[in-house]
Amino acid sequence: MSAVPCPPIRAFIAFGSNLGDRHANLLAAQERLCTSAGINCMAVSSLYESQPCGGPDGQGLYLNAVLEIATALAPYALLQLLQTIEHDLGRVRNERWAERTIDLDLLFYDDLILQNGSLTLPHPRLHERAFVLLPCAEIAPTLLHPLYGRTILQLCTAIDLSGTWRSQQRW
Ligand code: ATP
Ligand code: CA
Ligand code: CA
Repeated sequence: MSAVPCPPIRAFIAFGSNLGDRHANLLAAQERLCTSAGINCMAVSSLYESQPCGGPDGQGLYLNAVLEIATALAPYALLQLLQTIEHDLGRVRNERWAERTIDLDLLFYDDLILQNGSLTLPHPRLHERAFVLLPCAEIAPTLLHPLYGRTILQLCTAIDLSGTWRSQQRW
């Protein structure tokens, strides 16, 4: 664990993998994040599996999780770190929503609302995704979405949760 100056920002990161050794990919990403300067890992959800939605046909199931961190990094520095970890773990960007070794999305950065070419906060599609909301609800059920004014649990009740389930695998 690295030291984080006060006051740290509370942020949430979604993990997803459906290519290669999914479990090893999530473990490696978590290890990298939690040992990075300016990041303290606070809580992690269980592992979940989900049906791929969108993107090319024939993809394998995803393994997903959500991690809560306390961070001293600025939003763009955090995004850059996530993309460096993705790259180092073999992420290749081709077709939209194609299968990937690892995807790391920044869900929330405190209650910051931001929209530009490279970073949108909160993540613009998190509220419609069971594979994000279910693991997030496990560690932060009362977290309020700053745009919709609804908690993660409330957002869960508004969508179809089938297609995502808790995995038998453990961290
Ligand atoms: P989705 O965004 O629908 O989950 P994806 O994760 O497959 O799709 P990527 O190819 O990983 O999409 O990312 C596309 C771009 O999204 C990145 O280059 C990044 O700059 C941008 N982006 C914008 N907001 C965020 C965010 N909150 N977290 C991660 N990436 C973001
Ligand atoms: Ca994503
Ligand atoms: Ca992404």
